Amino acid sequence: MKVDEKLALCAIKKDEQSHLRLDEDGCRRCPTKICLRACPAHLYTLEPGTNAVVVDHSGCLECGTCLVVCPLAAVGWSYPAPGFGIRYRHG
Ligand code: SF4
Repeated sequence: MKVDEKLALCAIKKDEQSHLRLDEDGCRRCPTKICLRACPAHLYTLEPGTNAVVVDHSGCLECGTCLVVCPLAAVGWSYPAPGFGIRYRHG
């Protein structure tokens, strides 16, 4: 089974409140913006016009990659509230 097929089996219960907080100034200064390429769910984007980094928490796989790769420690990361977030269902 391929990764995409496994991910298609997952269920995500969206919490209206994001569990990911970005340091806007840090993200703006970041020389690599590696989160744009590292997030396996492709949740990080640049806001058109302002070039600010934004993240859509609702599809988060809770892998922690963005927390680990950020060179400026600009990602405030926690798990979603109990009962929310991803539920892996592929064994
Ligand atoms: Fe993307 Fe993983 Fe960070 Fe969630 S924890 S935003 S899936 S890199």
